[in-house]
Amino acid sequence: MHLPAPAVAGTAAERLAAVRATLAREAAAGGHAPPTLVAVSKTFDAEAIRPLIAAGQRHFGENRVQEAEAKWPALRLETPDLTLHLVGQLQSNKAEAAVRLFDVIHSVDRPSLVQALAKAMGRTGRQPGLLVQVNIGAEAQKGGVAIADLPALLALARDQGLHITGLMCVPPVGREPAPYFALLAKLARRHGLAALSMGMSADHDIAARLGATHVRVGSALFGPRDV
Ligand SMILES: *Cc1c(COP(=O)(O)O)cnc(C)c1O
Repeated sequence: MHLPAPAVAGTAAERLAAVRATLAREAAAGGHAPPTLVAVSKTFDAEAIRPLIAAGQRHFGENRVQEAEAKWPALRLETPDLTLHLVGQLQSNKAEAAVRLFDVIHSVDRPSLVQALAKAMGRTGRQPGLLVQVNIGAEAQKGGVAIADLPALLALARDQGLHITGLMCVPPVGREPAPYFALLAKLARRHGLAALSMGMSADHDIAARLGATHVRVGSALFGPRDV
């Protein structure tokens, strides 16, 4: 937790420029606009994050509410125009804390969480952007709504007054990701959802080519994590 950045090739600005160039090239090759780059800073501390902010990066992602609460309020005082994304699983009892801190939540994945978010948004008056995470590889241990349950979850969200803007996925480890990204894009089209959060360090190029609107990149920007 809260490790300093390990040695990785190049400066933060150089790594950022390389990832951005890849995204621009691959998105153009696929006929898409370049996606928003979400720099996933989980486990890295403010010292590791500041160089990316200094290089112009503004969208950051975290996977734990408590860790984000400890890091980001101070960084936000230094740089007010940051956008914070929650990319990890969210427990319903942390929904209100998440709504207070994050601008976009990528991991809406079950009815109880939809209810908790609706309540938290009512109580706080905050309206973060919301994406539904889909368990695209039908993996038992993974977060995300089953594909078969997606229509009902979207309907419930609508009934509860939540505006879902898109879908998110993490394909199975060790598999060719392209078919899963294509499937997520098809599901989003079918439901009229514009945002597609897909692609990480290993496959952000493929995701950009297949129309991602948000890629979530950690280690390619910060170096390896040892947790
Ligand atoms: C950690 C994480 C990422 C970033 O992973 P890298 O492989 O380091 O780029 C992206 N999405 C989610 C949901 C994550 O938990």
